[in-house]
Amino acid sequence: MFKQIKMKKITIAIDGFSSCGKSTMAKRLAAQLGYVYVDTGAMYRAVTLYALQQGFIDNDAFDKQALVEALPQVLVSFTSDGGVLLNNTRVDELIRGVQVSAWVSEVSSIKEVRQQMVQLQRGMGQNKGVVMDGRDIGTVVFPDAELKVFVTADAKVRAQRRYDEWQAKGVEVNFEEVLKNVQERDYLDQHRAESPLVQAADAVVLDNSFMSREEQQDWLMQQVNNVCKE
Ligand code: C5P
Repeated sequence: MFKQIKMKKITIAIDGFSSCGKSTMAKRLAAQLGYVYVDTGAMYRAVTLYALQQGFIDNDAFDKQALVEALPQVLVSFTSDGGVLLNNTRVDELIRGVQVSAWVSEVSSIKEVRQQMVQLQRGMGQNKGVVMDGRDIGTVVFPDAELKVFVTADAKVRAQRRYDEWQAKGVEVNFEEVLKNVQERDYLDQHRAESPLVQAADAVVLDNSFMSREEQQDWLMQQVNNVCKE
């Protein structure tokens, strides 16, 4: 008879810069472990889409107060297959648009937006067995997470990845513009007053500039095994 090895369920926080491939690696890791995967960036993107749809963001003007007042009407959730719902409408594609990408850092710097999202995220991870990716998961959402990974990569490498994604979708973009957006988001994410992007003191760093997907996955599983056998 085989003895079944039961691994304890843990909370895995994956934070880091934008366009590092965090979501892809976090999603794969969750699937490998049979864990729930939560893409918190998608949640901030959904709120940004809401602000755009309601006209709170118009050209260069952003009525933050109007968004804050409307927050009780903003419902963000996930379908069982990982789709993103904004007020019960699937918005997976819409939240990846250029306008949402341009405004999401601004929207996610609003204290009230963060409070609402963090509360939701804590609920989603309350039973452990979760891989959550974002910017403040290991520092604010789950400071007691058993495994914290901080992902980074060279800005040009990240911009190239984003550029390739747009190209594959047939969207005409300029590489310099994409690089500028990556650098601006890095700056805003690191310098905002509310939950800036910082590496948790107890996080392990993954610089994936020159790593293949498989190498990253192996590295991650190694970290999980290290924590689970402690
Ligand atoms: O992960 P993604 O690039 O889709 O996130 C979009 C934006 O949402 C980030 O640039 C950041 O401004 C914001 N974000 C955040 N906190 C999180 C996740 C994302 O502020 N936990």
